[in-house]
Amino acid sequence: MSVETLVSEAGTSSDIANLNINGERLWQSLMDLAQLGATPKGGVCRLALTDLDREGRDLFVKWCEEAGCSITIDVIGNIFARRPGKDNSLPPIMTGSHIDTQPTGGKFDGCFGVMSGLEVIRTLNDHNIVTEAPIEVAVWTNEEGSRFAPCMMGSGVFIGKFDLEETYAIADYEGAKVGDELKRIGYLGQQQVPGHKVGAYFEAHIEQGPILENEEKTIGVVIGCLGQKWFDLTLKGVESHAGPTPMSLRKDALLGAAEVIQAVNRIALEHQPYACGTCGHIEAYPGSRNVIPGEVLVSIDFRHLEEDQLAHMINELDKVLEKLKTENGLELELKPTANFPALYFHDDCVNAVRTGAQRLGVPHMDIVSGAGHDAIFMAEVCPAGMIFVPCEDGISHNEIENADPEDLAVGCNVLLHAMLERSGVC
Ligand SMILES: [Zn+2]
Repeated sequence: MSVETLVSEAGTSSDIANLNINGERLWQSLMDLAQLGATPKGGVCRLALTDLDREGRDLFVKWCEEAGCSITIDVIGNIFARRPGKDNSLPPIMTGSHIDTQPTGGKFDGCFGVMSGLEVIRTLNDHNIVTEAPIEVAVWTNEEGSRFAPCMMGSGVFIGKFDLEETYAIADYEGAKVGDELKRIGYLGQQQVPGHKVGAYFEAHIEQGPILENEEKTIGVVIGCLGQKWFDLTLKGVESHAGPTPMSLRKDALLGAAEVIQAVNRIALEHQPYACGTCGHIEAYPGSRNVIPGEVLVSIDFRHLEEDQLAHMINELDKVLEKLKTENGLELELKPTANFPALYFHDDCVNAVRTGAQRLGVPHMDIVSGAGHDAIFMAEVCPAGMIFVPCEDGISHNEIENADPEDLAVGCNVLLHAMLERSGVC
């Protein structure tokens, strides 16, 4: 389509190429939202479907209505703020993220993506720009998975991956259920799931890692997300007295676990780039200083961007386990606990982000996401892409989480231009 179809009388094509969001307004929105559930250390605690979550949602809805958007809420409480386009029969170009936080969360994780979407709409309003397809900003329910597991709940139900009734029945530690809490806070909506068709989905997010900061880049063009394979490994030996049992006659399960932990680290180092290997949880039985540990549970978390590399990493682990069985006489049980496939984002969306960064002349690099995001689920139903901006020292899920206002403004600008490009112009 031509430039004219996008631009009202007020704009020209060069106006659009030079279009900038209002960084101060974006920052102020983030700071205002962060008041709801503010913690003494400067973070935010706004758990999914609590009264504070309702207050955050109400504020978002109020801002979007003031910006002329219509609001739809679906049966899992996802909010969609829609700015009409010229052709409203087209599926919307969507952006979004989440405003629920971890108990010791920060001001930016998720909120940056949602407030950026709002800022895109406010910017289009400021310049009287009408896009061809409608623009939508989504707030996804319970992305964090802190109060209710699993994480990415709202987007998972939206795409039909999670069953609605089963999700309603999920309870928090106090026994409060998702369905009841949605009703209680007034966000049990009407729109059915699986949800409406989406033309493209973009999500701006803080990186939650240290790479951009280390590389001195402002924008991460997210090309994909690491696949994840999680296991619980149980090692069984024989517990016996730490004195009378000679070294040569022991079956020490914790010693075996130590070899596994070393191996997981080595295997990840041998599969660079992109490989991660972590043993984050360990339990040793009976846990007594003068008893040789007879049974140990250790968690294993492998990640990689390439599925075949991930499979190779697990093969390597199997070799180590086989050796522990034959040479150390341990009994082993490896139980898979989670499996998220690796994902490449859609070329069109990745390119839209990269072109946006190039056009704005900002330092950028390709990057992969090691964490889960709603965009990963959205990628199953439409072309999707993500934009990362640095966060201080790579720290998030922490009250001290921090980001530079200028970096955030640049990220939001890239989002604006990527969304405009997917609207058919720029
Ligand atoms: Zn997030």
